[in-house]
Amino acid sequence: AMRIAQMSGWVSQSLMALWSNIGEVEDGMRTLTPAHAITDAEGAQVLGRVQGEVRFDQVSFAYGREKGGIDGVDLTIKPGERIGIVGASGAGKSTLVALLLRLYDTEKGRVMIDGTDLRDVTQESLRRNIGMVTQETAMFNRSARENILYGRPDATEEEMIAAAKAAEAHDFILGLVDHTGKTGYEAALGERGVKLSGGQRQRIALARAFLKNAPILVLDEATSALDSEVEAAIQKALGRVMEGKTVLAIAHRLSTIAEMDRIVVLDQGRIVEEGSHAELLAQNGLYARYWNRQSGGFLGTEEEEAEEPLPGIEAA
Ligand code: ADP
Ligand code: MG
Repeated sequence: AMRIAQMSGWVSQSLMALWSNIGEVEDGMRTLTPAHAITDAEGAQVLGRVQGEVRFDQVSFAYGREKGGIDGVDLTIKPGERIGIVGASGAGKSTLVALLLRLYDTEKGRVMIDGTDLRDVTQESLRRNIGMVTQETAMFNRSARENILYGRPDATEEEMIAAAKAAEAHDFILGLVDHTGKTGYEAALGERGVKLSGGQRQRIALARAFLKNAPILVLDEATSALDSEVEAAIQKALGRVMEGKTVLAIAHRLSTIAEMDRIVVLDQGRIVEEGSHAELLAQNGLYARYWNRQSGGFLGTEEEEAEEPLPGIEAA
């Protein structure tokens, strides 16, 4: 169970690191190079600001010859619709999101935004349309201000602070002191700066996303427990950031998922259930089982993985 948790942690961590570093300025410590460099097609068009319709059209993808990936996923998400993605560790949640970010190309089928195949647009313009929030978001060895401005470098000081406030990050940022004595928005983050908790990182990520204001938002909630005060602050901030956006949320807390317009349940790379929280409970299938087992707790914790080993992966 430990190994499964580590593996999936590694997958999503490298995914996030990749996403936040491709083509970006180096952070002083290291520059990540995509292992699987995807290049723009000749004559790729620039995707303007989209309405936010996301469509997976019979999409299949596998990692090499190994098992795992996505198998025949057909899913259309309306602009402004909020989708929750649930499933056991290894079900394909991160892979689905990776395909939307075009970290990989599909083997079969296509992924489209507003009806345009992702392979026909520049990666830069694709990235501008998608915001990303996760607890694993990389912090750069720069000030808190610069870390938030990363969402939109030309934003004004007022806009930057408004974003931090909307993300419930302003108050804790004011309390930061780094090892050189710099405080607040001047305090250095990253590996050589102030160590942030998972909940704080998530709020910096939310502030960036708020500032970026992209029409499509991807959320990947971490499994780690947050104290209830932080949890409430993050829920509030999430609500603000999701406003008017097309949202794909991978959440481990089913309480977050229950609020979504539609929930998609993945199992071994396939969509096995789809519907609202109430519909899925009535269906009494996999989602209902997760819900009953979790009773407001977490999905994909080590204990639960131990209860239900995954096919295709040896338990350590
Ligand atoms: P989830 O996010 O639901 O935990 P993932 O999308 O990370 O699931 O993984 C789906 C499947 O693909 C798993 O079986 C996993 O082991 C496999 N997988 C994910 N990333 C890779 C990779 N980079 N190389 C090989 N297999 C991978
Ligand atoms: Mg994952």
